[in-house]
Amino acid sequence: MIIGVLKESLPETRVSLLPEHIATLKKWNVDVCVESQAGMDAFAADDKYSTAGATVKSREEVLQNSDIILSIQPIENSKIENQKSKIILGIYQPLFNYTLMKDCASNGITVFSMDMLPRTTRAQSMDVLSSQANIAGYKAVLNAAFTYSRYFPMFMTAAGSIPPAKVLILGAGVAGLQAIATAKRLGAVIEVFDTRPQVKEEVMSLGAKFVEVEGAADASKAGGYAVEQTEEFMQRQKAKIGESVAKADIIISTAQIPGKKAPILITTEMINAMKSGSVIIDLASATGGNTELTKDCTTVNHNGVNIVGNSALACSMPSDASKLYGKNVLNFLQLIITKEGQLNLNFEDDLVKGTCVVHGGEITNERVKVLIS
Ligand code: NAD
Repeated sequence: MIIGVLKESLPETRVSLLPEHIATLKKWNVDVCVESQAGMDAFAADDKYSTAGATVKSREEVLQNSDIILSIQPIENSKIENQKSKIILGIYQPLFNYTLMKDCASNGITVFSMDMLPRTTRAQSMDVLSSQANIAGYKAVLNAAFTYSRYFPMFMTAAGSIPPAKVLILGAGVAGLQAIATAKRLGAVIEVFDTRPQVKEEVMSLGAKFVEVEGAADASKAGGYAVEQTEEFMQRQKAKIGESVAKADIIISTAQIPGKKAPILITTEMINAMKSGSVIIDLASATGGNTELTKDCTTVNHNGVNIVGNSALACSMPSDASKLYGKNVLNFLQLIITKEGQLNLNFEDDLVKGTCVVHGGEITNERVKVLIS
């Protein structure tokens, strides 16, 4: 068995496996073939892969010779057509990219998309959304501190007092919780909104205030993913969020619903009420953003309020992002490769079944099927 690692195209800076991950695959009798310069942006040079026991080849050679191809971002369509009966594994967002999934099906490609992994206890060590969101939450706060023209911590100095920054965090999932922890370490005062009341305790244990809005839709049966809210709830939530937005110096927004446009939680009117110099970091920008003014991959300055749309903050820390992503992938590969290095696709395993989107010429994932029908 040969596993191929492709070089990603910018702005993607991560790589699916680092040299440190190769030894584990070697132990399973699996060879690794890496595209030349694949680890360059994550500071892993070709010679490090060779020393670790991988072979370094051209893109064409990796595509032609590998049984499983690792590529975080989707592979270009023209390559898919030439790759019959191969397995690809990455983060392909099939709930949005279903045309690509259909192309893979008609070309006999089996697709595993790590963002479809069921969010169960057994899946935690493979959960790429969590490992990458953790980085995004951390970097969101650091970027906000960098952009903000004032201190985060409170200071009493001979030249006068500095009040602590007021940070508002919308969505206390993996990114939001890490953002709370990071903002707290910097000395900010933090308020948090989430539609899942069960996160209240976690939020408070990190030293932040949880603002409750009653009547949210129950997400307990959505496998760890958020669900859409009623219009009536959204209106009540907006009114409460509006009060916090007006006081906030920094907002980190992370609210997302898989396969759907992100909910608008901050209106232009609310932003108009913010102090000049305030900063919003919107991690939901790729799916439309949590503010009415967010633009993906862009910073919008509205009356002195900087609204930074960035859903790809994990790419700004490519070494650790790749280290954690690669470990997640290894843990998942263990489910589909035997110790003797043979492929074993056991669709009775809920994690293998849930992560597989395309197999045998068909879309197999129920959540993607629902969208297409
Ligand atoms: P996410 O990125 O999909 O969403 C971020 C947060 O936004 C969520 O907490 C969600 O409730 C919140 N949100 C959605 N709509 C909102 C709205 N209108 N207003 C305010 N907040 C809103 O979430 P995530 O970080 O990927 O994970 C969410 C949860 O899934 C985790 O906190 C955890 O409970 C669970 N999880 C389980 C596992 C596992 O067991 N393997 C792994 C990761 C996450």
